[in-house]
Amino acid sequence: MAAHVPAAYLREPYRTAIETTVAACGDDVHGPWVELVDTVLYPEGGGQPSDRGSVDGRLVTDVQRVAGVVRHVLEAGAACPATNAPVRVELDWARRFDHMQQHTGQHVLTAVAADRFGWQTTAFHLGPETSDIEVAVRELGRDELDALEAAVASELRAAHAVGSTYVDRADLGGRAVRSRGLPEAHSGPVRLVSIGTLDVATCGGTHVANTAEVEALSLLGAERLRGGMRLTWVAGGRVRRRLAEHEARTAALRRALGAADDALLDAMRARGERLAAAERRADELEAEIVRLTAERIALMRDDGARAEPSPDDPPTMLIAHEASASAARLTAIARAVTALRPESVVVVAGGTAPDGRVVIASAATTDDRRMRAVADTLFAVLDGRGGGRNGLYQGSTPSPERLTSAPASLAAAVRVAWLR
Ligand SMILES: [Zn+2]
Repeated sequence: MAAHVPAAYLREPYRTAIETTVAACGDDVHGPWVELVDTVLYPEGGGQPSDRGSVDGRLVTDVQRVAGVVRHVLEAGAACPATNAPVRVELDWARRFDHMQQHTGQHVLTAVAADRFGWQTTAFHLGPETSDIEVAVRELGRDELDALEAAVASELRAAHAVGSTYVDRADLGGRAVRSRGLPEAHSGPVRLVSIGTLDVATCGGTHVANTAEVEALSLLGAERLRGGMRLTWVAGGRVRRRLAEHEARTAALRRALGAADDALLDAMRARGERLAAAERRADELEAEIVRLTAERIALMRDDGARAEPSPDDPPTMLIAHEASASAARLTAIARAVTALRPESVVVVAGGTAPDGRVVIASAATTDDRRMRAVADTLFAVLDGRGGGRNGLYQGSTPSPERLTSAPASLAAAVRVAWLR
């Protein structure tokens, strides 16, 4: 049996490039791929995402373990290097080191949570912005999170050395080893990662050499999940980047609200209250405008009305153009006028050319077949389009001014439509 030789990403996690040889190359639904005799690129696993990098300049977009072999997925369109050809593999080190900081931080967090507080880790996820672990505990408050964070910080400051060894699987049972279980496909020796006297865990990931390199770990929050709690956190450079983002955002808020940090929330709430009061006042004024406009239109005279009207006569036409009225205000005005003058048909246009609107309304008792004929005639006269039913018709017109420029001819057209 050949001696077990782990890949370079495990032997030398700080190594950023390696000269190696192509073992196989191919193409599948994920794109072109290459398998190498050795690699510095970590394949996704154990909660840690895959590395990025390049193979002889070809970008690596994903790294996965396929049937026990590390497969490098290349960018679309990349040409296969020849089998047995020498190639140079380069690692995106900034991304990897960030992952090493998060991953090592997770080991410390999991160990402290379990040994100091009795909260066992059941899951780990390393995300692009934040990471999280799930712990088997019903409820955690901010005070408990603060205590956990302080205990983790103490262990990071202790600058524990981080190392790894391999043991036979058969020897694993007798050891005090933390493990969330080995992958189903696992074969061969088991890798143990130790952190000073703090922790020994089965792990196939990449880690910094000393807990001091984790810099810091900040618990952002906790939420209930699957009967336990999910803790969200950042470690390493992410703590500083996140703090810088928060500072920039807070500075922008200080400028926008004209308040000091400790007065920002009060300043924002006060603005919200002023805004709500202004909106209430605007609603009152809008209702007042609608009422006054409707009263003015309702007082208009219809020159075409006869002294002794018959039931077949067209209704009173009340026509107005309110250039500044919104669509909602036009409808409200039209409804208010029909309440004041239930025998009338109200036509109100709003806006100015070429973006006019028109609302035609009547009391619910008006014959809707005739109303539809009137609305169709008006839309035609105004070059507009629209529709409606039950006494309320709405549409658009490029020339709202035409409604009031020739009232007599308009009234005549409407009368014809009504009597048709
Ligand atoms: Zn690990």
